[in-house]
Amino acid sequence: MKIAITKYSALVVVDIQNDFCAENGALPVPGCHSIIENVNKYIEMFERAKRVIVASRDWHPPNHISFKMRGGPWPPHCVQGSAGADFYPGLKLPDKAIIISKGTDPDAEAYSAFDKTELHYILSKLGVRRVFVCGVATEYCVRATVKDALELGYEVILLGDAIAGIGEESSREAIMEMIRSGAVLAEFKDLLT
Ligand SMILES: [Zn+2]
Repeated sequence: MKIAITKYSALVVVDIQNDFCAENGALPVPGCHSIIENVNKYIEMFERAKRVIVASRDWHPPNHISFKMRGGPWPPHCVQGSAGADFYPGLKLPDKAIIISKGTDPDAEAYSAFDKTELHYILSKLGVRRVFVCGVATEYCVRATVKDALELGYEVILLGDAIAGIGEESSREAIMEMIRSGAVLAEFKDLLT
């Protein structure tokens, strides 16, 4: 069965930023650059259908709690205003895309695009009920975003051909977990255009 981009649908593009996708990025996600073409195809599809397009970005203060210097798991990445925090240049974001910055509180971890952001408020106001999620990293920010969306009552379509993770096994497990939680795994060919 084909999945429709209903009137109440939005595309959520998670964290396609230089530090994750560029060759010299601070926290490279293997395969990030290989999904860009597909991410852009989805963006075009949603633009053509005149649907909401959201792009989230990690937007950390220089002393963010997730950084190693503070005992966190990650090297500094996506520091507010740095080149590493810029969207990857290959990403074709329309001007009207809604940009959601997350992880802005120095003392709070935040992987989900819904975590202490306006995203749920904005989508609710626009009447969005179904979100299509793509981006990086599968087992971190994509997973957290999908799980929050499900908990908030959205129908979630995980775009399997436009996500990339840090580890192969951990990505597979995360995908299974998202499906168990209620997400529908789909690819470009599954969508009604
Ligand atoms: Zn981060």
